[in-house]
Amino acid sequence: MRISIDTDVCIGAGQCALVSPEVFTQDDDGFGTVVPGRASDAGGPLVREAARSCPVRAITVEEVTA
Ligand code: SF4
Repeated sequence: MRISIDTDVCIGAGQCALVSPEVFTQDDDGFGTVVPGRASDAGGPLVREAARSCPVRAITVEEVTA
């Protein structure tokens, strides 16, 4: 699974960090960011829930095979 945030779209709502704090956090300016080291290995329903909860759909969760 590969998780990314489109920083051009993120408005810093913080929903992702609330829903899935192990994978998402907020930078010093309040914008969403993926916790270091969690961009490719993290999975689980909370990640998808966080992506769905983002009001501007800035989060992309991709299945990566192999
Ligand atoms: S929920 Fe979306 S808009 Fe809010 S901080 Fe996370 S990525 Fe940014």
